[in-house]
Amino acid sequence: MKELKGYKAAELEARLQQEGFAGYRARQIFNWLYSNLAADPKEMNNLPQRLKDWLQENLIYHSLDLEEEKRAGDGTINFLWKLKDGRTIESVLLPQRDSENYTACISSQVGCQLACKFCATGQQGWERDLTAGEMVDQVWQSALYLKSTGSPGEKAEKSKRDIRNLVFMGMGEPLLNYQAVRQAVEILGSETGFNIGSRRITISTAGIIPGIKKMSREMPQVGLALSLHAADNKLRSRLVPLNKKYNLQQLHRALQEYLANTGRRITVEYALIHEVNDREEQARQLVGWLKGLTVFVNLIPLNPVKGQKLTGSSASRIEKFKKIISQAGYPVQVRQSRGQEVKAACGQLKETGADGNE
Ligand code: SAH
Repeated sequence: MKELKGYKAAELEARLQQEGFAGYRARQIFNWLYSNLAADPKEMNNLPQRLKDWLQENLIYHSLDLEEEKRAGDGTINFLWKLKDGRTIESVLLPQRDSENYTACISSQVGCQLACKFCATGQQGWERDLTAGEMVDQVWQSALYLKSTGSPGEKAEKSKRDIRNLVFMGMGEPLLNYQAVRQAVEILGSETGFNIGSRRITISTAGIIPGIKKMSREMPQVGLALSLHAADNKLRSRLVPLNKKYNLQQLHRALQEYLANTGRRITVEYALIHEVNDREEQARQLVGWLKGLTVFVNLIPLNPVKGQKLTGSSASRIEKFKKIISQAGYPVQVRQSRGQEVKAACGQLKETGADGNE
C-alpha cells in the first residue's frame, strides 16, 4: 500500500516495524495527521529525520489536489479534486441546519456502472474504483480547507470537529467498491483516525443486495440509505437499471434482514420526478412497499441533469406525495437539493467542466 491515508493505525504500526522503526511511531504519525491535520511530514517534529524521509520517499502523503471549489449562498461547498492519474472526482460539504458543523458527501468511484437515468455520474460511465486513501483524503482535505479558510487562530481540532457526519453519496456506487469503502469507514470512523464515529457515517446504495448483507454483518454501526425512486418494478428498472438484477421484492427481504441484524432505521431516498414517479397513486404504492420496514423517507425534488428532459416535481405535487407517506405513519421530510447553484448534485460539478462553463 502506498497511500498514508489508506492505512489503519495497526497496519501502519506493522509496516513501520517491518521497516525497522518503533511501532509507537504510528500513533505519533496518526496524531499529526488526524488531530493536527499536518500538511507535510516535515511538520512532525517529534519524529526522527530518518522516519520523516522514509515517509516522504515511500508513501503518498496527499492523494488529491484541489482543482476547483465553489461556495453556494446556502453555505454548501463543492470540491473538484484531481487524482494522481489526472482523473477528477468531486465531494461536497453540506452545512448542517442549526449548527456550525458540516456533513461531508464523498465519492467512492470515478464514474459509475449503474447508469441511473436521472444521475449525472450515471451518464459518464465508469472509469475506476477509488482507493481507501482517496476516499479518506476527500474528508481530510475538506477539513484542511475549512481550517485554512476559518478564522485566524482557529485550531485544527475545531475544523476537524466541523465535519460531524459523513455520507457516501457522491459519485459511484459504494457497495461495488466494498473493501475500500470499508477500509475508509474504519479509518474515518475510528478514534485513532479521523474520529467521525461509525454511527455518524451513512452508505447510500442503489440496491446492491450482497453488499447490503455484508454491510449488516461487518459494519452494523454504519447507516444505510437506499436510493429507491420507484416502488414499481417496471418503472424502477427504467430509472435504476440495477433493479433488473435485484428487484423490489428481493430488496425488501434484504432490508428486513438488515434491520434484524442492525436494528438501525434505514433511510429511503426518493427523487421526485415530474409526472414520472410523483403521482398520488405512486405514493400509495411506496407506502405498500414500505410495509414491514423501519424507515425514514427523504423526498428530494430532482435536480435537472444536462441532456435529460426529466424535471423536478412542483411544490404542490411534492406536498401531496409527502402527505400520503406521513399519513401512513412513516417519518418523511422533503430535502431540498441544496447547493443547486453550484451544481452540488451528484456528478454535476464535473459535468460542467473544471472551468465552470456549461
Ligand atoms: N450509487 C449510490 C450513491 C450515489 S448517488 C446510490 O445510488 O445511492 C447519491 C444520491 O443522489 C442517490 O440517492 C441518487 O439517486 C441521488 N441523485 C442522483 N442524481 C440525482 C438528481 N439529478 N437529482 C436528485 N437526486 C439525485
